[in-house]
Amino acid sequence: MLGGKDTAESGAGRPAPLFFTNTLSGSKEVFVPLKAGAASMYSCGPTMYGPAHIGNLRAYVISDTIARTLTAAGYRVRRVINITDFGHLVSDGDEGEDKMTKGLLRDGLALTLENMRAMAEKYTAGFVGDLAALELDTEDILFPRASDFIPEEIALIRTLEQKGYAYRTSDGVYFDVSRFPGYGKLGGLDLANQQAGARVAQHKEKRNPADFVLWKSDGKLGWQSPWGLGFPGWHIECSAMIRSLLGQEIDVHTGGEDLIAVHHNNEIAQSEAANGRQFVRYWMHNAFLTMGGEKASKSVGNVVYLSDVSEKGFHPLALRYLFLQAHYRTPLSFSWDALAAAASALDRLWRLSADIARESKRSGEPSEARDRFLAMVRDDISTPQALGILWDSLRSEDYTPEEKYGLLEAADKHLGLSLTRPPITAPIPGAQAPEDLRNLLDERSAARARKDFAAADRIRADIERRGYRVDDGPEGPMLTPTTL
Ligand code: AMP
Ligand code: ZN
Repeated sequence: MLGGKDTAESGAGRPAPLFFTNTLSGSKEVFVPLKAGAASMYSCGPTMYGPAHIGNLRAYVISDTIARTLTAAGYRVRRVINITDFGHLVSDGDEGEDKMTKGLLRDGLALTLENMRAMAEKYTAGFVGDLAALELDTEDILFPRASDFIPEEIALIRTLEQKGYAYRTSDGVYFDVSRFPGYGKLGGLDLANQQAGARVAQHKEKRNPADFVLWKSDGKLGWQSPWGLGFPGWHIECSAMIRSLLGQEIDVHTGGEDLIAVHHNNEIAQSEAANGRQFVRYWMHNAFLTMGGEKASKSVGNVVYLSDVSEKGFHPLALRYLFLQAHYRTPLSFSWDALAAAASALDRLWRLSADIARESKRSGEPSEARDRFLAMVRDDISTPQALGILWDSLRSEDYTPEEKYGLLEAADKHLGLSLTRPPITAPIPGAQAPEDLRNLLDERSAARARKDFAAADRIRADIERRGYRVDDGPEGPMLTPTTL
């Protein structure tokens, strides 16, 4: 029962019940893992031909919030985010440019496997750093490189060949979707429709339009294989790494909803055909981060990076707060104003948390407020509602400081917002602020003096965008950094 007395959060008893929307069934289900007390989890990682953008980061903050909820509920969680360090065409199909090749050409580097790996390592370091800044425990996550699993990828393709699911063409090896009953079951993809609406320019040797590449031959570059020099297909790397690191059947697989139709249906086809058993118990997909009404993506060019967020003076956790304000299955429209509002809300939350911690750092008995908060996160990771309960309860006079501190501890476990160690700094008198801010404060005082409150508010918003909150004290305005 949701909202019942909680024992698992304190580490005793059976894990608490969790409810997840499963893309496989299209409905909300109670979470039942393969092995009691344990949960395995895989998230498709980015292709490392450039830094990850904040749309990608939304996908990983969401998978982290799911992992935190599993851990806090009492499961031992094993997590993998793969690193695609070769191949992966710009489109999900088998035509188009190869992203890693594109990256090498852009950087003026020779097309060699060493350069490809070196480029991937450079961007992977930045990616893992971004995740750590967003409070993901990167020590606890495995980041396997697809290029370290070539023998496993080849072995999987051979199994598919031996079982009659694969066929050779002049340019590699393909998966025959007509041999796999139920192809396209994820997201209710209708294969007949898909076949009819398939690309006009179809590979001539493919038996079915939805067939996809398992091994791509390349005359010059790649690894040796039974099919000559070349590269494993993009989809096979996930199936092979999952089988090697987590097993034939896993509990949770996440990714953005763009991956459902092709990539995840292909992962299912390969893994279930090779292993002869169910592949993933719970498929969970996040909606997009949008920018100007469109999915943020490198190919459209409407992307922002975490480095941009920091350069504008925002704390990375302001971005995490912004992500948590939307449910993971709802699109989130990014704007700098929305981020400024999230930064200012998080700053207020940090101050409120610091005030509570000054009164008590003991958590006491589980409170009704904490139970209501937990019921929300356990109900399909409903973070907007959980944040609402958090705010209401921390401001309420119905709870003791111990109960509030216990709620902060639970919120930290689930949301990762650093509420029990808020990174806030002391206010600075306006007169001691840097010159540009001092000028803005003077303009604001002038606007207030002539009762132009709209102008005063605009200037305050401008100061907030620069990472400071304004408070008017007896000594004049005070500026508090909202970022570190
Ligand atoms: P990619 O490098 O494009 O394969 O993306 C890595 C992960 O980020 C995948 O799970 C994608 O579905 C996800 N992703 C890409 N763009 C967005 C976006 N704008 N919003 C949310 N998730 C995204
Ligand atoms: Zn994948």
